[in-house]
Amino acid sequence: MAQLNLPSPIQTVTFENHTFYLKRDDLIHPDFSGNKARKFHYFLTHDFPHINKIVSYGSAQSNAMYSLSVLAKMKGWQFEYYVDHIADYLKENPQGNYKEAIENNTVFKVNSEELRVKSDNVLFIEEGGRQSEAEYGIKLLAEEILDWQKENNIKELNVFLPSGTGTTALYLQKSFSIIHHPSSIKVFTTPCVGDSDYLKKQFTMLEADENYHPTILSLPKKHHFGKLYRENYEIWLKLQQQTGIVFDLLYDPLGWRTLLAHSELLCKPLLYIHQGGLLGNESMLLRYMRKFPHISSE
Ligand SMILES: *Cc1c(COP(=O)(O)O)cnc(C)c1O
Repeated sequence: MAQLNLPSPIQTVTFENHTFYLKRDDLIHPDFSGNKARKFHYFLTHDFPHINKIVSYGSAQSNAMYSLSVLAKMKGWQFEYYVDHIADYLKENPQGNYKEAIENNTVFKVNSEELRVKSDNVLFIEEGGRQSEAEYGIKLLAEEILDWQKENNIKELNVFLPSGTGTTALYLQKSFSIIHHPSSIKVFTTPCVGDSDYLKKQFTMLEADENYHPTILSLPKKHHFGKLYRENYEIWLKLQQQTGIVFDLLYDPLGWRTLLAHSELLCKPLLYIHQGGLLGNESMLLRYMRKFPHISSE
């Protein structure tokens, strides 16, 4: 069974002459993206005697897909994953999350109609793990942070993490607010998929009470998920040079750029959550090296 490295460690890093605390959720488990270990914690630690299959959907390179393939393997379940399409290049050169999911016997269904088959034996997981069971593991994350805050006598704290579905940021702020009201911890996030309105809608789907919503920050320029940006590549390389830590290439570059552009957050101690996702870097890094051959880590 999965041995999770919890509580995940918190360390200090210096980046661009600012000091940050860094929550290393990337170190929770070698086979889960840190963030997905939190979101799927409930399924990892409970028994589901009647279930024999997971069904989910999303992109063919998703971190959630890979983590679900690991979960299915651990539980001895089948895993069926629905995608709109799989790029020819990826099919011919399997890599990253897709490659590992295939090795875990994921059954891919491309462009298929039969997705929402209801069956008592099927555990249905929303795209990216956006569902209420995620609250369980994210509340544990909140408790780890509160314990650490108390141990270190930190009065007020800002927490920052980049969002996809927004599930993690939402349940984190909600947990802080429920445990201590008013909370001495404020959660900030930025949308990496879609814009602020999209993220706000995602929050509302999971939690109608806006008092529990995190604060959304963004950069003035529109950002497209999965697209290559010179600024993203540059900050990712800089992070590695200055902190010695590898971050993910999809969410973290925009996260750090947004954070540095909002220096008012740094008037309080700031904790950044490293949510893992490094398996997905393989294909992104090859694309970046091809597009910007003159930018290098030297
Ligand atoms: C899934 C993921 C996210 C986004 O998490 P949400 O809860 O969907 O907002 C961010 N970073 C990494 C590395 C992820 O794998």
